[in-house]
Amino acid sequence: MRVVKSIGQMQEFSKAALRSGKTIGFVPTMGALHDGHLSLIRSSCKENDITVVSIFVNPIQFGPKEDFRNYPRVFKNDAYLCGKAGVDIIFYPAAKEMYGPDYRTYIEVMQLDRFLCGAFRPGHFRGVATVVAKLFNIVMPDRAYFGQKDAQQARIIVKMVEDLNMPVDIRIISIVREKDGLALSSRNIYLNESQRRDAVVLFQALKLAKSLIKSGKRDSAGVVRQMRGLISTKKTASLQYISIVDQRDLKPLKTIKGKALIALAVFFGKTRLIDNICVTC
Ligand code: AMP
Repeated sequence: MRVVKSIGQMQEFSKAALRSGKTIGFVPTMGALHDGHLSLIRSSCKENDITVVSIFVNPIQFGPKEDFRNYPRVFKNDAYLCGKAGVDIIFYPAAKEMYGPDYRTYIEVMQLDRFLCGAFRPGHFRGVATVVAKLFNIVMPDRAYFGQKDAQQARIIVKMVEDLNMPVDIRIISIVREKDGLALSSRNIYLNESQRRDAVVLFQALKLAKSLIKSGKRDSAGVVRQMRGLISTKKTASLQYISIVDQRDLKPLKTIKGKALIALAVFFGKTRLIDNICVTC
């Protein structure tokens, strides 16, 4: 396994691999890897000749009051996990390699960034779309792997690739959870004991919604009210939002129908966790 820090070297490597007829699978991450990331990596290794993982805590997707500075950075352990999983290259650029002092270009996927997390994190998805587009130009993958855990991000990337005719096949991989249902996240390490215990409420609330819908309930407001009620029973949980939206355009649904996405964000102290579930009716 090689660690590449320079954009030029990464491009040279990818060009050579593509010239020799090899396929490249790509898994963009911010590091602090866990089994969720490894599930993406495993899919890539299975479906491609070469797997590239990027580890880059992207400054332009964090708001001024968010956790950019404190985001966990554990490169040695990440490199060990990547090596064990069969990754061929870790692309590990410095922020100044990705954004020079004269950087000017951003990508915005209109409308889709207005709802869900986008409503609370202005500029976040612009930062995500921009870095992913840059990484695609650097790594030149045939396939790229994203988690359903970040459902809005996945939808926005699919739309960007479609709109800009990027020659990359996007694969969305299901959410990997702890035994008790908590979705794996690099931010889970911030939780203290009681917060960790309470954090199962995200998945419990989503399961409650799913069962209400299965039993015939269709008004979003009613479903959200019951989810709120459940979350309020956990002392350390502070709800940011619950939304029930259409899976394609991410617009809120008053009446639940078709393919819906139920998503929520909950704070435990300063730690913000997200989760979601898809329902069809
Ligand atoms: P991050 O390092 O948090 O930017 O995540 C990198 C990729 O891993 C994203 O596509 C995430 O959606 C995905 N991911 C993060 N957590 C999980 C999880 N629990 N299950 C599946 N994919 C995940």
